[in-house]
Amino acid sequence: MTTSTNEAGVAGAAAVHRRAIIVDGHCDTPYRLFRHNVHLEEHDPEAQVDLHTLRESGITASFFAAYVPPAYAGRGATRFAYHLIELIRSEAKRKPDLLQFCTDSAGIRQAKRDGKIAIMIGVEGGHAIEDSLDTLRDFYARGVRYMTLTHVNTNNWCDSSGDGGRHGGLTSFGRQVVATMNDLGMIVDISHVSDNAFYHVLETTRVPVVATHSSCRALCRHPRNMTDDMLRALARNGGVCMINFFSAFVNDGVAEVVMKSGKRPRDNNGGTGGTEEMPDDRTDWDAYLKWFQTLGCPQASLEDVVEHVLHAATVAGVDHVGIGSDFDGVPSLPDGLQNASQLPALTARLMDRGMSEDEVTKILGGNFMRVFEQIEKGKK
Ligand SMILES: [Zn+2]
Repeated sequence: MTTSTNEAGVAGAAAVHRRAIIVDGHCDTPYRLFRHNVHLEEHDPEAQVDLHTLRESGITASFFAAYVPPAYAGRGATRFAYHLIELIRSEAKRKPDLLQFCTDSAGIRQAKRDGKIAIMIGVEGGHAIEDSLDTLRDFYARGVRYMTLTHVNTNNWCDSSGDGGRHGGLTSFGRQVVATMNDLGMIVDISHVSDNAFYHVLETTRVPVVATHSSCRALCRHPRNMTDDMLRALARNGGVCMINFFSAFVNDGVAEVVMKSGKRPRDNNGGTGGTEEMPDDRTDWDAYLKWFQTLGCPQASLEDVVEHVLHAATVAGVDHVGIGSDFDGVPSLPDGLQNASQLPALTARLMDRGMSEDEVTKILGGNFMRVFEQIEKGKK
């Protein structure tokens, strides 16, 4: 291939990236802002997403996670969720010329037309509702548009992939949670749940569901990833699997090291976060980071992420794949995708690998928009 053809390819991919509605299914930026007591536009050496890289990324809509660490389960989880919900809303308001707080698909499309970035809210960790459907309804009223049913901890009504679970999947109250989310028009996020819970959700839901930040287990053995059977079931449901960029979820060598390490850094807050295999006790993020760095994992690459996107598109179909970076929620990102500003490289590589503009546009956000609109129409 000549240089000029390469340049034409890069320019073409850049235009495709610019035209597309790009939706990032999950970032943990609010929790970073909370931990470091900084605003989105402020410099933070640990940032994987800040205002600058967000603008460089080309992202149209980003789901900011109101992440509730497992340590808060039964100890102020709802209150902490409210705190992060308000933090997200106020961050969006600080830069009204650049950011738009959004709660629906029409708002995302409007943000694209206005050249703004839509900031959305997803609550991460079903323990946040403290077993109250009224709290779930109140989250919706405050602008929350998805809830991840579990984090790494099993809660009173849904098993997590992070700790083995104790219900055999989803309890009958868990099924009420899913039904209530369908009625509200809130996206049911099945990232993090156990395999059984995933299938129980599919039996229960009236509308498509979303894995906002999950990758493929056939390529990377981490139990947090989705099996091919799960990907096919999600496709039959009409949903979308948004590929997670975390090195340990896209590179099997990294997953192997992490899963074999069998240690936790410490557990100084009495929390239940994390597992033997993968500490995720982020009320002590620095210890988590340090622990991860001592493992000596191999370096994952952008190509690993590309392989997951292509695999999911092959197994589930190109209509059922998206992207969910997990930026600011993970201690290691692939080379070539170290922060949000490098996202255009993913589009370029997908096109190099033979995907058409139509296919790439679906993956970047089109599929998510279709599912979100179906969920909105399913409201009661
Ligand atoms: Zn997560």
